[in-house]
Amino acid sequence: MPDIIELLPDSVANQIAAGEVIQRPASAVKELMENAVDAGSANIHLLIKDGGRTLVQVVDDGSGMSETDARLSFERHATSKIKSANDLFLIQTKGFRGEALASIAAIAHVQLLTRQADKELGTSIEMEGSKVIRQEPTQCPVGTSISVKNLFFNVPARRNFLKSNPVETRHILDEFHRVALAHPEIAFVLTNNDSEVYRLGAGNLRKRIMELYSKNYEHRLVPVKEETEIISIEGFVCKPEFARKTRGEQFFMVNNRFIKSPYLHHAVVNAFRGLISDGVHPSYFLNLTVDPATIDINIHPTKTEIKFEDDKSIYAILQSAIKQSLGKFNVAPSIDFEQDANFIPHLTSRTQINTPAITVNHDFNPFNSEGKGSSFAPPRPKAKQGDWEEFYSINMRSNSSVETEIEEQEPMDVMPERWDDAIEAKGPKPTYQLNARYIVTHNVAGFIIIDQHRAHQRVLYEHFLRSMDTSSGHCQQLLFPQTVQLSASDIELLREMEEDLHATGFDITAFNQNSVVIGGLPALSKSEDATGLLENLLDQFKHASSTLKLGQRESLAKSMAKNLAIKRGENLAKEEQQSLIDKLFACEFPYHGPSGKPTIITFTADELDKRFE
Ligand code: ADP
Ligand code: MG
Repeated sequence: MPDIIELLPDSVANQIAAGEVIQRPASAVKELMENAVDAGSANIHLLIKDGGRTLVQVVDDGSGMSETDARLSFERHATSKIKSANDLFLIQTKGFRGEALASIAAIAHVQLLTRQADKELGTSIEMEGSKVIRQEPTQCPVGTSISVKNLFFNVPARRNFLKSNPVETRHILDEFHRVALAHPEIAFVLTNNDSEVYRLGAGNLRKRIMELYSKNYEHRLVPVKEETEIISIEGFVCKPEFARKTRGEQFFMVNNRFIKSPYLHHAVVNAFRGLISDGVHPSYFLNLTVDPATIDINIHPTKTEIKFEDDKSIYAILQSAIKQSLGKFNVAPSIDFEQDANFIPHLTSRTQINTPAITVNHDFNPFNSEGKGSSFAPPRPKAKQGDWEEFYSINMRSNSSVETEIEEQEPMDVMPERWDDAIEAKGPKPTYQLNARYIVTHNVAGFIIIDQHRAHQRVLYEHFLRSMDTSSGHCQQLLFPQTVQLSASDIELLREMEEDLHATGFDITAFNQNSVVIGGLPALSKSEDATGLLENLLDQFKHASSTLKLGQRESLAKSMAKNLAIKRGENLAKEEQQSLIDKLFACEFPYHGPSGKPTIITFTADELDKRFE
């Protein structure tokens, strides 16, 4: 085979935007795996150690390199994939910038072994900080093996910037998933710290998705297929009822390259409109094939963003293809009310709601006044009338001052009782459940409406935070331990949380490559559906920790609370209503749910009087 690598002219090199190619071990994984794909490999093996810090190695059975190419491959702008600027518009390969190996060799210890099929001997090259340490002919299998050790050994700033091993491993798994999904025709193996995480056989996309995520996907996937002159689309979307709280399994591949596209994502979301509720995201795995001349992959150094020539048409075609599939496969609308707190129309303070008999200001929030109130809650507009918190904070002081201050404020027919008297000491107050969603009760100050789901979340949130601090969570052993299938990145996440999960009452008895065994659940969980619980928990945990930037314990406590709290729509017996009220007021911050929204609304007698004027 002839030598094929050429140095790009400077003009082309400059045309290719310079950028940082390697930010973390996962970037090296992406580049090396893509090179292996470009080399026409049938089998690709990725080995990592310690989140890629100690080792990232990719072994392939592709074309291999000649001795000269092997040496040249480490030069900057050395590529066999394009020869001129024009070629930038005909790209069929993953790489083309000729920067990856040069960048990796500049910041790590690299060993390359490579042999072409028609050669007896291969080439071994060792690089360290861009310098060739050793080069010699060697015996090795056909194909290429590149090991990258001690990444960032000479860039301490970058090294220190790396996150914990489980976090870096998760980034690597993300890249691995992207390449593996874009190429179901290639067999992949992933070994992490000497244990095998994935062994993916060559096959089709459906099989690949099931191997990567779980067998459960068999029943979740709806095929999408559309062929037009400007684009062909092939792949799967998940049925609406499996939409997730977090954006997780959302993959666009354009000409077999994973890309990010908020614009096309929007098209998919639009196709699901009316089938899923706000705040959940559809999962999809979609391959788009277009003429390479109609896209520009060159707008981002990591090549995950591309520009389409005719993006509006592509948007429309994509949206209609998905709509058609959802229709064809008889996917009935189903809104997951459980998951969605916002299915009741959102009202602004200016919204006038005119129902035949009553007018209610849903936004009335008596707790907030400027500059005071719990720092826990996000700022809200000042309440128009009454200030319940102030009212009670006055009451909490000495009785004598209460009386004078109250008198000074506004004469009332009945003197208000102290809160704890009203709720605890004097036994249960009458309660009433409204719409299977609110608990209505009263004290002499007025009547109180409690959001049962949010109130219970507050109770559980504080409970779980305490159990994590003191490792005091009770575990309810399952009669039969359940094996829960999860993606490898979810398993990594669980590993990170293992100790805290244990403290809340989870009994995870074994971590396998693709599954965990659950021996027991927190005593508070009513259902024994470990799979559902764990899947929801992971979803919400990811949401809480990424969007809200909460610490691990807060995120976990919040997700557990959300999952296990009494739901809206659940009927509660009188004793349950009472017990919830008692527990709520035993909390440190009873007035707001873990997300900062109010748990209680009070209408003071004063407020009621004004309403009846
Ligand atoms: P690019 O992929 O953008 O061309 P790289 O720095 O990633 O740049 O690789 C440089 C060149 O080294 C490639 O163009 C290719 O010819 C060769 N090469 C890299 N990895 C492999 C591999 N696994 N098998 C065969 N050739 C490879
Ligand atoms: Mg490359």
